[in-house]
Amino acid sequence: MADRIIPPGSTIGILGGGQLGRMTAMAAERLGYKALSYSPEADAIAGQVAPHMQGAYDDKAALARFANQVDVITYEFENVPEATVAACEKHKPVRPGVRPIHFAQHRLREKAFFRQAGLATATYQAIRSLADVAGATAFPGILKTCTEGYDGKGQARVANKEQLAEAWDKLGRPESILEALVDFRCEVSAIVARSLTGEARCFPIGLNDHRDGILRTTTVPSGMPPAILAEAERLGVQLANSLELVGLVALEMFVTRDGRVLANEMAPRPHNSGHWTIDACATSQFEQLVRAICGLPLGAVDVLAPSRMENLIGDEADDWLRYVSDPTARLHLYGKARARPGRKMGHVTHVFTSDLLTRGGLPPGSASRT
Ligand code: AMP
Repeated sequence: MADRIIPPGSTIGILGGGQLGRMTAMAAERLGYKALSYSPEADAIAGQVAPHMQGAYDDKAALARFANQVDVITYEFENVPEATVAACEKHKPVRPGVRPIHFAQHRLREKAFFRQAGLATATYQAIRSLADVAGATAFPGILKTCTEGYDGKGQARVANKEQLAEAWDKLGRPESILEALVDFRCEVSAIVARSLTGEARCFPIGLNDHRDGILRTTTVPSGMPPAILAEAERLGVQLANSLELVGLVALEMFVTRDGRVLANEMAPRPHNSGHWTIDACATSQFEQLVRAICGLPLGAVDVLAPSRMENLIGDEADDWLRYVSDPTARLHLYGKARARPGRKMGHVTHVFTSDLLTRGGLPPGSASRT
């Protein structure tokens, strides 16, 4: 085991230069590691906190130069091309590697993998042809493109075959998935770290609220019954083990009104719904990723205080003065130059210690939409 440890002082390479890479670099540096991120942008926000290398994802020579400057590589988004990861793997270990992104990049492959790994999902059908449209039965449903869609993009709600045909046309008839609409009580996520030795550890389950397909808040503790929490955690750990993952994976799930837990989507990287861990958990998800990929023991995942993370989207970040004046609020701004509608500019975690509550903080909101 000890010979597989990548010790502090080593350099962690990060494919991608966004806020997840930035917060991973910050966690790495706190533990005495160096970080180097790689992405095509000249002004990557990860580059504001640690060195950044600008390069295309298909530039093999640049990727080799990047890999040769680091000791281990991870990625901060699941749409990094498989060939990019494979090119890096020729030089240095990439954790969690090609396999998780192979499934996470394609919704049909992902759902099939969930089923194969024993995770229940919504009913779904592949939509690749007009014959698939004519034979569709999963109504009311949501049509989603297999690739490239995120934060509600590339999705349409459809009530019948006519709406499906129209929506599929509008999307340009790409390979898609039709999922039956789940009448859910709430959405939750499990974030699981798995180490080089195969130990898996799940962060406490977060209760997620989405609006327009974008995560708005995560509340922990979630207020869910223990049996639901245990099932959500079991599915997350089962997924990490089935992927033979070394690193971090987030699993977003639906809790149905009749108490079932269905897998919706995975991301083999730090996840927006885990940002609360920076301020309200014994170990942050970013530190846990560093520990996992460097062969260190995984950190404790105890909740230090109840918390609610709120995303700051678009011009909501202009309210920063209000947050820095609120004793319960821990403000995180990502250093993005321009706010655009729908763009994640930062987040704020309200941490509800009993001391802060008596000083006027608000308790976490109601735990579920019933
Ligand atoms: P996704 O891109 O798959 O994470 O979907 C974004 C959001 O759309 C989810 O967080 C849900 O709020 C909603 N959604 C997606 N799929 C379904 C479904 N099958 N049934 C009900 N709501 C869904």
